[in-house]
Amino acid sequence: MSKIIPALRIKNFSFYYDHQKVIEDVSMEIPQNKITAIVGPSGCGKSTFLKSLNRMSELEEEVRVEGKVEFFGQNIYGRRVNLNRLRRQITTIYARPNLFPMSIYDNVAYGVKLIGWHPKSELDEIVELALKSADIWEEVKHKLHKSALELSCGQQQRLCIARALAVKPQVLLMDELCLGLDPIATIKIEELIEGLRSELTIVFISHNIQQVSRLSDFTAIFHYNENHIGQLLEFAPTKKLINHNPDYRHRDFASTRYR
Ligand code: ADP
Ligand code: MG
Repeated sequence: MSKIIPALRIKNFSFYYDHQKVIEDVSMEIPQNKITAIVGPSGCGKSTFLKSLNRMSELEEEVRVEGKVEFFGQNIYGRRVNLNRLRRQITTIYARPNLFPMSIYDNVAYGVKLIGWHPKSELDEIVELALKSADIWEEVKHKLHKSALELSCGQQQRLCIARALAVKPQVLLMDELCLGLDPIATIKIEELIEGLRSELTIVFISHNIQQVSRLSDFTAIFHYNENHIGQLLEFAPTKKLINHNPDYRHRDFASTRYR
Protein backbone atom coordinates (compact mmCIF):
# COMPACT_ATOMS: atom_id res chain seq x y z
CA MET A 1 0.00 0.00 0.00
CA SER A 2 1.25 3.48 -0.83
CA LYS A 3 2.18 5.72 2.04
CA ILE A 4 -0.52 8.11 3.20
CA ILE A 5 0.64 11.72 3.32
CA PRO A 6 -1.57 14.35 4.95
CA ALA A 7 -2.43 17.25 2.62
CA LEU A 8 -4.16 19.07 5.46
CA ARG A 9 -3.34 18.64 9.12
CA ILE A 10 -5.91 20.11 11.47
CA LYS A 11 -4.77 20.54 15.04
CA ASN A 12 -6.99 21.46 17.97
CA PHE A 13 -9.06 23.65 15.73
CA SER A 14 -11.89 25.76 17.17
CA PHE A 15 -13.96 28.30 15.26
CA TYR A 16 -16.04 31.31 16.36
CA TYR A 17 -18.50 33.47 14.43
CA ASP A 18 -18.16 36.73 16.29
CA HIS A 19 -18.05 35.41 19.87
CA GLN A 20 -20.13 32.33 19.23
CA LYS A 21 -18.14 29.11 19.24
CA VAL A 22 -19.44 26.72 16.58
CA ILE A 23 -16.59 24.20 16.25
CA GLU A 24 -14.52 22.87 19.12
CA ASP A 25 -11.16 21.21 19.24
CA VAL A 26 -11.12 19.30 15.96
CA SER A 27 -7.95 17.40 15.12
CA MET A 28 -7.66 15.27 12.01
CA GLU A 29 -5.47 14.68 8.98
CA ILE A 30 -6.88 14.80 5.47
CA PRO A 31 -4.85 12.43 3.31
CA GLN A 32 -3.39 13.59 0.01
CA ASN A 33 -5.02 12.27 -3.17
CA LYS A 34 -7.77 10.51 -1.24
CA ILE A 35 -11.45 11.26 -0.92
CA THR A 36 -12.65 12.28 2.52
CA ALA A 37 -16.35 12.59 3.35
CA ILE A 38 -17.80 14.71 6.13
CA VAL A 39 -21.16 13.69 7.55
CA GLY A 40 -23.23 14.84 10.49
CA PRO A 41 -26.56 16.44 11.41
CA SER A 42 -27.51 19.92 10.23
CA GLY A 43 -25.91 22.70 12.19
CA CYS A 44 -22.97 20.70 13.51
CA GLY A 45 -20.48 22.90 11.68
CA LYS A 46 -19.65 20.85 8.57
CA SER A 47 -19.89 23.78 6.14
CA THR A 48 -18.04 26.07 8.52
CA PHE A 49 -15.30 23.50 8.90
CA LEU A 50 -14.99 23.08 5.12
CA LYS A 51 -14.84 26.87 4.66
CA SER A 52 -12.12 27.04 7.30
CA LEU A 53 -9.85 24.84 5.19
CA ASN A 54 -9.23 27.65 2.70
CA ARG A 55 -10.31 30.59 4.85
CA MET A 56 -13.45 31.26 2.80
CA SER A 57 -15.29 31.65 6.11
CA GLU A 58 -13.64 35.02 6.59
CA LEU A 59 -15.39 36.48 3.56
CA GLU A 60 -18.71 36.50 5.41
CA GLU A 61 -17.97 38.15 8.70
CA GLU A 62 -15.77 38.54 11.75
CA VAL A 63 -14.44 35.13 12.66
CA ARG A 64 -11.89 33.84 15.13
CA VAL A 65 -10.02 30.57 15.15
CA GLU A 66 -7.88 28.67 17.59
CA GLY A 67 -5.49 25.88 16.69
CA LYS A 68 -3.95 25.25 13.32
CA VAL A 69 -4.72 24.12 9.81
CA GLU A 70 -1.53 23.09 8.03
CA PHE A 71 -1.41 22.66 4.27
CA PHE A 72 1.68 20.60 3.49
CA GLY A 73 3.25 21.92 6.65
CA GLN A 74 2.30 25.60 6.29
CA ASN A 75 -0.22 27.04 8.74
CA ILE A 76 -2.87 28.62 6.50
CA TYR A 77 -3.79 30.96 9.36
CA GLY A 78 -0.25 32.31 9.45
CA ARG A 79 0.25 36.00 8.77
CA ARG A 80 2.18 35.69 5.55
CA VAL A 81 -0.29 33.50 3.71
CA ASN A 82 -1.33 34.69 0.24
CA LEU A 83 -5.10 34.15 0.34
CA ASN A 84 -5.62 34.26 -3.42
CA ARG A 85 -3.01 31.59 -3.90
CA LEU A 86 -4.37 29.52 -1.03
CA ARG A 87 -7.88 29.60 -2.53
CA ARG A 88 -6.53 28.55 -5.91
CA GLN A 89 -4.73 25.60 -4.38
CA ILE A 90 -7.66 24.67 -2.15
CA THR A 91 -10.80 25.48 -4.04
CA THR A 92 -14.49 25.26 -3.17
CA ILE A 93 -17.36 23.87 -5.21
CA TYR A 94 -20.65 25.04 -3.76
CA ALA A 95 -23.84 23.02 -3.42
CA ARG A 96 -25.50 25.10 -6.12
CA PRO A 97 -23.71 26.01 -9.33
CA ASN A 98 -22.44 29.57 -9.26
CA LEU A 99 -21.33 30.22 -12.82
CA PHE A 100 -20.70 33.69 -14.18
CA PRO A 101 -23.18 35.04 -16.75
CA MET A 102 -20.67 34.43 -19.52
CA SER A 103 -19.98 31.77 -22.12
CA ILE A 104 -18.98 28.24 -21.20
CA TYR A 105 -15.47 28.95 -22.48
CA ASP A 106 -15.10 32.20 -20.57
CA ASN A 107 -16.24 30.60 -17.33
CA VAL A 108 -13.47 28.04 -17.54
CA ALA A 109 -10.84 30.50 -18.80
CA TYR A 110 -11.70 33.16 -16.21
CA GLY A 111 -9.47 32.01 -13.37
CA VAL A 112 -6.66 31.04 -15.71
CA LYS A 113 -6.60 34.56 -17.18
CA LEU A 114 -6.44 36.07 -13.71
CA ILE A 115 -3.22 34.23 -12.96
CA GLY A 116 -1.39 35.23 -16.12
CA TRP A 117 -1.45 35.72 -19.88
CA HIS A 118 -1.54 32.70 -22.18
CA PRO A 119 -1.59 32.65 -25.98
CA LYS A 120 -5.04 31.79 -27.32
CA SER A 121 -4.01 28.29 -28.47
CA GLU A 122 -2.69 27.46 -25.01
CA LEU A 123 -5.81 28.80 -23.34
CA ASP A 124 -7.93 26.71 -25.70
CA GLU A 125 -6.00 23.64 -24.63
CA ILE A 126 -6.37 24.41 -20.93
CA VAL A 127 -10.12 24.91 -21.35
CA GLU A 128 -10.51 21.68 -23.34
CA LEU A 129 -8.51 19.66 -20.85
CA ALA A 130 -10.47 21.03 -17.89
CA LEU A 131 -13.78 20.28 -19.62
CA LYS A 132 -12.58 16.76 -20.39
CA SER A 133 -11.44 16.18 -16.83
CA ALA A 134 -14.83 17.37 -15.61
CA ASP A 135 -16.54 14.95 -17.97
CA ILE A 136 -18.52 17.58 -19.86
CA TRP A 137 -16.46 18.18 -23.01
CA GLU A 138 -18.58 15.99 -25.28
CA GLU A 139 -21.74 17.80 -24.21
CA VAL A 140 -20.45 21.34 -24.75
CA LYS A 141 -17.67 21.21 -27.34
CA HIS A 142 -19.96 22.43 -30.11
CA LYS A 143 -21.27 25.37 -28.10
CA LEU A 144 -18.35 26.73 -26.11
CA HIS A 145 -19.38 30.31 -26.80
CA LYS A 146 -22.98 29.91 -25.71
CA SER A 147 -24.05 31.13 -22.28
CA ALA A 148 -23.13 28.77 -19.45
CA LEU A 149 -26.45 29.55 -17.81
CA GLU A 150 -28.34 27.69 -20.54
CA LEU A 151 -26.96 24.36 -19.33
CA SER A 152 -28.87 22.00 -17.05
CA CYS A 153 -28.14 22.14 -13.34
CA GLY A 154 -26.04 18.97 -13.42
CA GLN A 155 -24.05 20.27 -16.40
CA GLN A 156 -23.56 23.62 -14.66
CA GLN A 157 -22.20 21.83 -11.63
CA ARG A 158 -19.73 19.88 -13.78
CA LEU A 159 -18.78 23.15 -15.46
CA CYS A 160 -18.07 24.64 -12.02
CA ILE A 161 -15.76 21.69 -11.44
CA ALA A 162 -14.08 22.30 -14.84
CA ARG A 163 -13.60 25.96 -13.90
CA ALA A 164 -11.97 24.87 -10.65
CA LEU A 165 -9.76 22.25 -12.33
CA ALA A 166 -8.52 24.75 -14.94
CA VAL A 167 -6.36 26.49 -12.34
CA LYS A 168 -4.87 23.19 -11.20
CA PRO A 169 -5.90 23.04 -7.57
CA GLN A 170 -4.51 20.48 -5.18
CA VAL A 171 -7.60 20.19 -3.03
CA LEU A 172 -11.28 20.33 -3.99
CA LEU A 173 -13.78 21.09 -1.26
CA MET A 174 -17.38 20.25 -2.11
CA ASP A 175 -20.25 21.24 0.13
CA GLU A 176 -23.43 19.13 -0.07
CA LEU A 177 -22.43 17.20 -3.10
CA CYS A 178 -25.24 16.81 -5.63
CA LEU A 179 -27.81 18.71 -3.59
CA GLY A 180 -31.05 18.82 -5.56
CA LEU A 181 -29.71 16.94 -8.57
CA ASP A 182 -31.67 14.10 -10.14
CA PRO A 183 -30.23 10.55 -9.92
CA ILE A 184 -28.71 10.61 -13.41
CA ALA A 185 -26.98 13.95 -12.90
CA THR A 186 -25.81 12.68 -9.50
CA ILE A 187 -24.28 9.56 -11.02
CA LYS A 188 -22.43 11.72 -13.57
CA ILE A 189 -20.91 13.81 -10.78
CA GLU A 190 -19.99 10.69 -8.83
CA GLU A 191 -18.28 9.24 -11.92
CA LEU A 192 -16.43 12.47 -12.41
CA ILE A 193 -15.18 12.42 -8.82
CA GLU A 194 -14.24 8.79 -9.23
CA GLY A 195 -12.13 9.82 -12.24
CA LEU A 196 -10.31 12.46 -10.21
CA ARG A 197 -9.47 10.00 -7.47
CA SER A 198 -5.73 9.70 -6.88
CA GLU A 199 -4.98 12.97 -8.71
CA LEU A 200 -6.54 15.34 -6.24
CA THR A 201 -7.36 15.59 -2.58
CA ILE A 202 -11.14 15.78 -2.33
CA VAL A 203 -13.23 16.61 0.70
CA PHE A 204 -17.00 16.51 0.36
CA ILE A 205 -19.99 16.93 2.62
CA SER A 206 -22.93 14.62 1.98
CA HIS A 207 -26.04 13.44 3.74
CA ASN A 208 -26.25 10.42 1.50
CA ILE A 209 -24.57 7.57 3.32
CA GLN A 210 -24.63 5.26 0.27
CA GLN A 211 -22.82 7.94 -1.68
CA VAL A 212 -20.30 8.33 1.12
CA SER A 213 -19.63 4.62 1.22
CA ARG A 214 -19.36 4.41 -2.59
CA LEU A 215 -17.02 7.32 -3.05
CA SER A 216 -14.95 8.08 0.01
CA ASP A 217 -11.77 6.54 1.36
CA PHE A 218 -12.13 8.23 4.76
CA THR A 219 -15.09 9.54 6.70
CA ALA A 220 -15.24 12.20 9.38
CA ILE A 221 -18.40 12.10 11.48
CA PHE A 222 -19.27 15.39 13.13
CA HIS A 223 -21.93 15.93 15.76
CA TYR A 224 -22.83 18.70 18.15
CA ASN A 225 -22.53 18.52 21.88
CA GLU A 226 -25.07 19.60 24.51
CA ASN A 227 -23.99 23.24 24.08
CA HIS A 228 -24.67 22.96 20.35
CA ILE A 229 -21.00 23.18 19.47
CA GLY A 230 -19.75 21.05 16.59
CA GLN A 231 -17.19 18.38 17.31
CA LEU A 232 -15.48 15.58 15.46
CA LEU A 233 -16.94 12.32 16.70
CA GLU A 234 -14.92 9.86 14.62
CA PHE A 235 -12.49 9.83 11.75
CA ALA A 236 -11.49 6.58 10.10
CA PRO A 237 -11.34 4.72 6.80
CA THR A 238 -14.87 4.56 5.39
CA LYS A 239 -14.66 0.78 5.06
CA LYS A 240 -14.06 0.44 8.75
CA LEU A 241 -16.42 3.14 9.91
CA ILE A 242 -19.43 2.66 7.68
CA ASN A 243 -19.26 -0.28 5.32
CA HIS A 244 -18.43 -2.74 8.07
CA ASN A 245 -20.46 -1.11 10.76
CA PRO A 246 -24.19 -1.86 10.63
CA ASP A 247 -24.78 0.77 13.24
CA TYR A 248 -23.65 3.53 10.86
CA ARG A 249 -24.53 1.90 7.58
CA HIS A 250 -28.22 2.48 8.06
CA ARG A 251 -28.05 5.69 10.03
CA ASP A 252 -29.83 8.78 8.83
CA PHE A 253 -27.02 11.27 9.14
CA ALA A 254 -29.17 14.21 8.23
CA SER A 255 -31.43 14.42 11.19
CA THR A 256 -30.06 12.71 14.26
CA ARG A 257 -27.72 13.42 17.09
CA TYR A 258 -25.60 10.39 17.68
CA ARG A 259 -24.85 10.67 21.34
P1 ADP B 1 -23.79 22.47 8.86
O1 ADP B 1 -23.11 22.73 7.55
O2 ADP B 1 -23.26 21.25 9.55
O3 ADP B 1 -25.26 22.44 8.74
P2 ADP B 1 -22.91 25.16 9.55
O4 ADP B 1 -21.43 25.18 9.49
O5 ADP B 1 -23.65 25.75 8.41
O6 ADP B 1 -23.41 23.67 9.86
O7 ADP B 1 -23.38 25.91 10.87
C1 ADP B 1 -22.80 25.63 12.14
C2 ADP B 1 -23.35 26.65 13.13
O8 ADP B 1 -22.82 27.93 12.79
C3 ADP B 1 -24.85 26.77 13.12
O9 ADP B 1 -25.29 26.97 14.44
C4 ADP B 1 -25.11 28.01 12.27
O10 ADP B 1 -26.28 28.65 12.67
C5 ADP B 1 -23.88 28.86 12.58
N1 ADP B 1 -23.51 29.70 11.43
C6 ADP B 1 -23.30 29.28 10.16
N2 ADP B 1 -22.93 30.30 9.37
C7 ADP B 1 -22.92 31.40 10.15
C8 ADP B 1 -22.63 32.78 9.92
N3 ADP B 1 -22.26 33.22 8.73
N4 ADP B 1 -22.74 33.61 10.99
C9 ADP B 1 -23.10 33.16 12.20
N5 ADP B 1 -23.38 31.89 12.49
C10 ADP B 1 -23.31 31.01 11.48
MG1 MG C 1 -23.89 22.93 5.61
